[in-house]
Amino acid sequence: MDAREARRAEILDGRPIADEIKCEVAREVRRLKDEEQVKPCLAAVQVGDNDASAVYVQNKMRACAEVGIESAPHALPGSTTTTELLALIAALNQRDDIDGILVQLPLPEQIDEASIIEAVDPAKDVDGFHPANVGLLAMGRPRFVPCTPAGIIELLERNQIEIAGANACVIGRSQIVGRPVAGLLLQRHATVTICHSRTRDLPSVTRQADILVAAIGRPGFVRGEYIKPGATVIDVGVNKLRGAAEARALFGDEHPAEADLVAGRRTPVPGGVGLLTVAMLMRNTLQAAKSRRGL
Ligand code: NAP
Repeated sequence: MDAREARRAEILDGRPIADEIKCEVAREVRRLKDEEQVKPCLAAVQVGDNDASAVYVQNKMRACAEVGIESAPHALPGSTTTTELLALIAALNQRDDIDGILVQLPLPEQIDEASIIEAVDPAKDVDGFHPANVGLLAMGRPRFVPCTPAGIIELLERNQIEIAGANACVIGRSQIVGRPVAGLLLQRHATVTICHSRTRDLPSVTRQADILVAAIGRPGFVRGEYIKPGATVIDVGVNKLRGAAEARALFGDEHPAEADLVAGRRTPVPGGVGLLTVAMLMRNTLQAAKSRRGL
């Protein structure tokens, strides 16, 4: 075996950190129940029968059960209108027993997604998508931080990966991942570059990064030449390939075999960032339950 074959990036396993965060949440949920008689509760709204959304909602409900958070799933037919969904959100906003409201995206195309996101009470917006929460995050005063970006920061910090002073590069500028994670890295004093589909000579930019976050949605896009030797690569992508044999497998945005040869550390897919996303949703729901009551 030559030296190149022997080299493998360290794998940043999401499981132990997600479990650690869920244990912390479970402990505090128990305390709230015992000392404050408060039972945190998350409402999850799914519209239509998108298979991937159904799996995501099930995973979130299972995590609620694990940490002792009550859950209230609402499954609506795919023909639901914006008005009908707004009525459900208004009812959930009113209910004192509901602390967090999660609307699983994407919504069917007849629904005006922006008006739904804006209808959620910002104090129950555990996904952190409401403009009020986006604005607070942009100002450096985060209330609810979107779960995937928050999970990425936990993964970095709990693995003692230094953010302050690092060159960080985020590929992707979505509202859900790219922009908020760039903001969080900046708040922690990284020098942040955001790349997207119009970036010129992308590999020459990404190769400067000590921390490279790939949130693109294209399997295997980040090849070895995109990565600075020794860098930390955070792979947010969750992609399915079309072929029958591969239909059940998930692929990230990085090319794992090439990343292994160049990166210092990398997150796997599955088993990396996705697990943190669910754990951070639990933490946001706990935070909502406490802050709504001034605890
Ligand atoms: P998105 O809204 O589709 O955004 C993709 C971004 O990638 C866009 O900003 C786009 O640039 C950029 N991009 C596309 N092609 C590119 C190219 N050739 N070169 C450079 N940039 C390019 O996706 P998203 O919602 O952020 O999700 C990204 C991935 O993360 C998906 O695979 C998604 O499934 C996954 N995800 C995972 C989790 C998790 O919990 N693990 C959570 C959320 C999302 P433009 O803006 O110029 O179009």
